[in-house]
Amino acid sequence: MSALRAEALTRRFGGLTAVSDVSLSIEIGELHAVIGPNGAGKSTLVNLLSGTLPPSAGRVLLGDTDVTGWPSWRLAQAGIGRSFQRTNVLREMTVFENVRLAAQASVFTPGSWLHRATRETAPIEAARAALVRVGLEREGIAATLSHGELRLLEIAMALATAPRVLLLDEPLAGMGPEEGEKVAGLLKELTRDHAVLLIEHDMDFVFAVADSMTVMVDGRVLEQGAPATIRASAAVREAYLGNDA
Ligand code: ADP
Ligand code: MG
Repeated sequence: MSALRAEALTRRFGGLTAVSDVSLSIEIGELHAVIGPNGAGKSTLVNLLSGTLPPSAGRVLLGDTDVTGWPSWRLAQAGIGRSFQRTNVLREMTVFENVRLAAQASVFTPGSWLHRATRETAPIEAARAALVRVGLEREGIAATLSHGELRLLEIAMALATAPRVLLLDEPLAGMGPEEGEKVAGLLKELTRDHAVLLIEHDMDFVFAVADSMTVMVDGRVLEQGAPATIRASAAVREAYLGNDA
C-alpha cells in the first residue's frame, strides 16, 4: 500500500486547468521528485495533496484512507507535512516558536481546546526533535537566519507534526552549493522513515536524490518513472531538459 496516492487529480482556476489528471503514488522510504517548467502546476499539485486547495476532480489517498477534500489542519493531523515555496516563517518570532506553532497545527484544531490542553507539552517536544533532526539548533528570531537556514527551518516546521508524508516545495531556493549538499544529505536521511515528495528546479540535485520522478508540463504528466527512465525519455528531452541534457 502507498503512503500517499493521487488519482487523476485535477484543479481548475476558471478556464485554466492548472493540474490535469495527475496520478502518482509514494511509499515510505521513497523520494519522488516532481519537475517541470514554471507554471507547470507543481505547487498547485502540492496544494491539492496538502489540503491547501480542494481538487476539482480526482482523489487523494493517505494509506488506505480517502482524504480527498480534507482541510490542511486535518491532513497535518493525519500525517501530511509540507513546506511552502514562499516562506511561511514568522520572521519576528524565534526559530523555536515558529516550529512550535507548526507543531501545534496537529493539536490546535477547530473545536479542540480541551484536546490541546491535555497535550500541551507535545508540541514543545516535537519542535525540539524537529530542530535537532534538521541540525538547526539556534536561539533568536527567525529574521537573523541565512537563506539556507530559513529553508531548514521550513523543513523543521513540516517535520513538527510528525508526518509520514513530507511535501517539500523548492526547499533549496536561494541556497548555495554547500548548503544544497547538506540538504541533499538531510533529505536522504528523512526519506528512510518518510514518503517524500520534492519539487526542485536544480536537475543535478534532483537526479542525485530522487528514487522516482514525475515530469509535469502544462498541468499534465509528461513522463513518470525512475530517473534513468526520465533521462532516456525523448519527450522529456524535447519538452523540458533541452536536447543536450
Ligand atoms: P509551478 O509551481 O509549476 O510553477 P503553479 O502550480 O504555481 O506552477 O501554477 C500553475 C498554473 O496555475 C499557473 O498558470 C498559475 O498562474 C496558475 N495558478 C496557480 N494558483 C492559482 C490561483 N490560486 N488562482 C489562479 N491561478 C492560479
Ligand atoms: Mg511552484
